[in-house]
Amino acid sequence: MSWKEQLCRLISLLKEEGIKDEKVLEAMRKIPRHLFVPENLQHLAYENVALPIGYDQTISQPYTVAFMLQALQVQKGYKVLEIGTGSGYLTALLLILGAKVFTVERVEPLVDFALNNLRKTGLTPDKYPLKVFTGDGTWGLYAWAPFDRIIVSASSLEVPQPLLVQLRYNGVLVMPLKRGFPRGEGLYRIERIPPATFKQSYLGPFLFVPLKQGVVRKSRHN
Ligand code: SAH
Repeated sequence: MSWKEQLCRLISLLKEEGIKDEKVLEAMRKIPRHLFVPENLQHLAYENVALPIGYDQTISQPYTVAFMLQALQVQKGYKVLEIGTGSGYLTALLLILGAKVFTVERVEPLVDFALNNLRKTGLTPDKYPLKVFTGDGTWGLYAWAPFDRIIVSASSLEVPQPLLVQLRYNGVLVMPLKRGFPRGEGLYRIERIPPATFKQSYLGPFLFVPLKQGVVRKSRHN
C-alpha cells in the first residue's frame, strides 16, 4: 500500500475515534507523517501509535495530535507558541492550519531533526511564518508574547507561570497535566478570562513524556 493509501486509512480511523474537525483532518491529509519518523520506523508511520525519535522522546500518537489540535481551535493568522517541537510533525500541521508558529525544543539535536523533517515537506522558515528556538519552553517566549494559542506536548504538575502570563486575553492553552487520583495524567484546556482568571477543563486521559527543565546541547568534539 502506498503512503497515501495508508494515510487515508489512518484518517478514517481518527474519524471513527471521534475526531470531527475537518480542518484538522485536512491538514493531516497533507503532511506525510513518515517524513517525521526515523527511517527504520517509517513502515509504522501510519499506525495510530507514538514512535521513538531518540533522546528518550517520541513523536506523539496521531490521535493525540488530532485531539489536541481540535481542542486548540486555531484560526488563520493566529500566533501559536508550541512547547516541545520533537519531530516537528505538530509544527507542520500548525503551519498548514495557517498559524504563525513559534516553537521551542530543549533537546538541541531534536531541533536539527525537526528542521530537517520540515524541510523535506517544504515547510522552511524562509517561506513560512515559522521560528524554531532551542531552549527551555517552561519560560515561554517573552519577547514574542502575547500568543493567541499555546500548545504544550509534555506533561507537568502545573502550567508554568510564564505561559499563563504570555497567553492573550481569551486565549487558549492546551497541555497535559499530572493530576492525582482519580484522574491521573490527562489533557486540559485552559482559557484566559480577562484579566487573569484561568478556566480549566479536563479533556480526557492521555500519556505524554515529561516536561523537563534546562537545555540538552549537542555534544562537541574538539
Ligand atoms: N509534538 C511533538 C512531541 C514530541 S515529545 C511530536 O509529535 O513530535 C515532547 C517534546 O517536548 C520532546 O521533544 C521533549 O524534548 C520536549 N520538551 C520537554 N520538556 C521541554 C521544555 N521544557 N522545553 C521545550 N521542550 C521540551
